[in-house]
Parts: sequence; C-alpha cells; structure tokens
Amino acid sequence: MMATKAETAMLETRSLRMAYGRRVLWTGLDMSVKSGRMVALTGPSGSGKSTLLGCLGLLERPTAGEILLDGRELSGLSATGARRLRRDSLGYLFQNYALVENATIAQNLNVALKARGRRGAQGQQAMEEALEKVGLAGRQREQVSRLSGGEQQRVAVARLLVKQPRLVLADEPTGALDRFNAELVAGLLRAMADDGACVVMATHNDSVRDQCDETVPVDAYTG
Ligand code: ADP
Ligand code: MG
Repeated sequence: MMATKAETAMLETRSLRMAYGRRVLWTGLDMSVKSGRMVALTGPSGSGKSTLLGCLGLLERPTAGEILLDGRELSGLSATGARRLRRDSLGYLFQNYALVENATIAQNLNVALKARGRRGAQGQQAMEEALEKVGLAGRQREQVSRLSGGEQQRVAVARLLVKQPRLVLADEPTGALDRFNAELVAGLLRAMADDGACVVMATHNDSVRDQCDETVPVDAYTG
C-alpha cells in the first residue's frame, strides 16, 4: 500500500555517521521525524548533538550516510537549492547562530518577514504578534546588542515565529533562560510542531524533554 502523506517522514537520517579523524561521534544513526513532531536529542556534552543539528541544517557534512527532507537527499542539492532550503524551510535557534547585533529587533525580524514575502501592514502585525508571544511587546526599536542573552534568545524565537519554517533546529534553546522563559519558549516550539513543523532540539532540560514526542539519545550511537 502506498504511504499517505501524513505517514511519510518529513525528516529522515539513514546510517548517518560523523567522525573527526579516528574519533567517531556517532554512527548508524537512523531517525525519522514526521510533521507535527518534536524530538529531543539527548546525550552528555561532547556526544555530538550540536554537530548533528549542524548536519541536519546543512551547516556541516556528515562523514557518511544520508539525510532526507521530504524524501529528497540533502547531499544532492545544488548550492542554489541549499540556499533556497535554508531561506524557505529551515529555522535555526542556535546559541551562536543568531542575530545581527548592531541592528534593532525590528530589523532582525524584517529579514525573516521579507523571506516570507510578508511586507507592509501584514508584516508589521505578524511582528507585533510574535514579539508579544515572546514577552517583548513594543520593543521593536531596541538595539539587539543591548539586550540580555535571554532576551536575544527570545528575539530569535520571534524570528522563527514570523518565518514559520517547516523544520526547526534548536540547540539547547532554553539553556540561557530562567524557568518562566524556558517554559514559554518550549511552549512556543511545541505550538510550532502542533502547527505541522518538525522540531528537533538538543536539550538537557527534563521538563522540556517531557514536552517532546520522542527522544534520540545521540550517545547510544557511538558504534
Ligand atoms: P554536544 O553538542 O553534544 O556537546 P558537539 O557536537 O558540540 O557535542 O561536539 C562533539 C565533539 O566533536 C566535541 O568533542 C568537539 O570537540 C568535536 N568537534 C566538533 N567539531 C569538530 C571539528 N571541526 N574537528 C574536530 N572535532 C570537532
Ligand atoms: Mg552542543
């Protein structure tokens, strides 16, 4: 029987392996994530969670194996195809892959709005709604460099909310946040999954992991 669209994985890895020289981070890593699912990558520091997220986000190349998005292998993409995928479908929430610091919150969100073709009043409204959701209502004109780490992280979440990527990759998204904001951000990521995105996140936070549908223990694939 043909698999229906709802049954097909949006994101899949097959026999994925990453090694630096002789050091194998993970090998034989198979995962399969459907639309609407939120997955936690777990494992001790140094087990390769960030590296895996980098591979899924086309920022790094695995040593071997395949990554498929909607059934298409990422390594087969042209440079243009990869750029388009990053622009249209991928959302990053990485500690060091964040914002234009010497620009305002609004300028940072405008980049994502433009990529979605949401301009003018409609874009403005989407921005206001996103900032309200992350607890930064009315702060568009503030310079990102003057915000605290936790506020910057929430600007990055607002940017995801306006971009609405199909695949969200988050690296310890609540690591820099207090408990209230950690719950807020976890809830917003959960809502993006419930709206049909695929969310993959590295996390050490048990209560955040409990909101995920599945756990992939990266350290179980050391070979
Ligand atoms: P985690 O996010 O689980 O803490 P990382 O993915 O950041 O783990 O790192 C896994 C290991 O891979 C670390 O020991 C790191 O030093 C190593 N590593 C990462 N990038 C490189 C690289 N370019 N060359 C060699 N080793 C690397
Ligand atoms: Mg890491």
